[in-house]
Amino acid sequence: MTLELTIPKKPHALELDLSQLTAILKSWGEPGYRAAQILKWIYSEKCVDPSKMSNLPAGLREKLATGIDWFLPEIHSSLSAEDGSTKLLLKTATGQFMEAVILRYENRTSLCVSSQVGCKLACTFCQTGKLGFFRHLAAHEILAQYALASSIVRAEGRRLSHVVFMGMGEPLDNYQNVVTTVKTMLRPEEEFGFGLSNRHVTVSTSGLAPKIVDLANDVKCALAVSLHATRDELRTELMPINRRYPLIELKAALTTWQAITGSKITLEYILIKDKNCGLREAKELVKFTSGLRAKVNLIPFNAHPGLPFERPGDDDIRAFQKHLAERSIPAPVRYSKGLDVSAACGQLAAKQIENLTAIPSRKAVVAERVLPQP
Ligand code: SF4
Repeated sequence: MTLELTIPKKPHALELDLSQLTAILKSWGEPGYRAAQILKWIYSEKCVDPSKMSNLPAGLREKLATGIDWFLPEIHSSLSAEDGSTKLLLKTATGQFMEAVILRYENRTSLCVSSQVGCKLACTFCQTGKLGFFRHLAAHEILAQYALASSIVRAEGRRLSHVVFMGMGEPLDNYQNVVTTVKTMLRPEEEFGFGLSNRHVTVSTSGLAPKIVDLANDVKCALAVSLHATRDELRTELMPINRRYPLIELKAALTTWQAITGSKITLEYILIKDKNCGLREAKELVKFTSGLRAKVNLIPFNAHPGLPFERPGDDDIRAFQKHLAERSIPAPVRYSKGLDVSAACGQLAAKQIENLTAIPSRKAVVAERVLPQP
């Protein structure tokens, strides 16, 4: 007979709601009303450390410290760029790395979060895709990115008002944890959430069609889709996930998402020289957007050693944009922030993983994934 020993896992403070925390406190013989005090520290003060919860008795602070998991990832490095972005490389409890990018604008501050360590989807232009998949991040690990970044910008007198799921990983491949996270981000502070507006939390997907429909039914947030091509053969070449969910399925899912939510969709389109930014592709893109209320972000590719792609010339970028604009499709040209500190998707964590495991040169770069929602 095999005896299986299971070590009970402590609940993480960032994954406890009022009723769960109340039940835990009562099981310790503590008054239930303390739960609201504790959650107020977390969600209003962004304090995820019981020793600092000064209105709690010392005995309770000790019980909290030992009975609940308060771990926040260590800020392994923090790199700031001239354009006001800061890239945080965070070390998880399992010793793996994830990254988050703070994006400072005149009128808002955004955070780009990771949802996985690595990614399964192997987009040909993406650093994270080259690394492969390590694991999903737990909801508390995604929320911790917000809590840590929030403390940094609070000290500058700013508030993190926007969140984009455009860091490492495909958020809809880690569906349940991402939905839990988004719900916590959207809950008002008085109800123990981070109080963000649903228009200011954007889930960005490479096109997992059935999960897009699930998302519309489960939570009201903004949606961005990494499109990059609107011809199956070309999109499959750039994004292998297109083989599983071809454009016809993706378009159907977007139509359904829009019918349920009534919201506009952001389509991200990297412009790659001699690949996807000629007149033919512009016409295909116009056809794809027909019937959708969508904005297209055009992102000139940033060339990088090790990748066979190049940035198109300015004339080609302008011609592509003009073709869309003349057909009343809003198509701003966006440039990534923080590229000088490796702010592109998965780039910094990828470098760290390379350093640790001596993976041979995988320095792919993509100029996407740090786009704010206007
Ligand atoms: S672009 Fe996104 S979905 Fe594609 S490999 Fe990179 S992280 Fe994964």
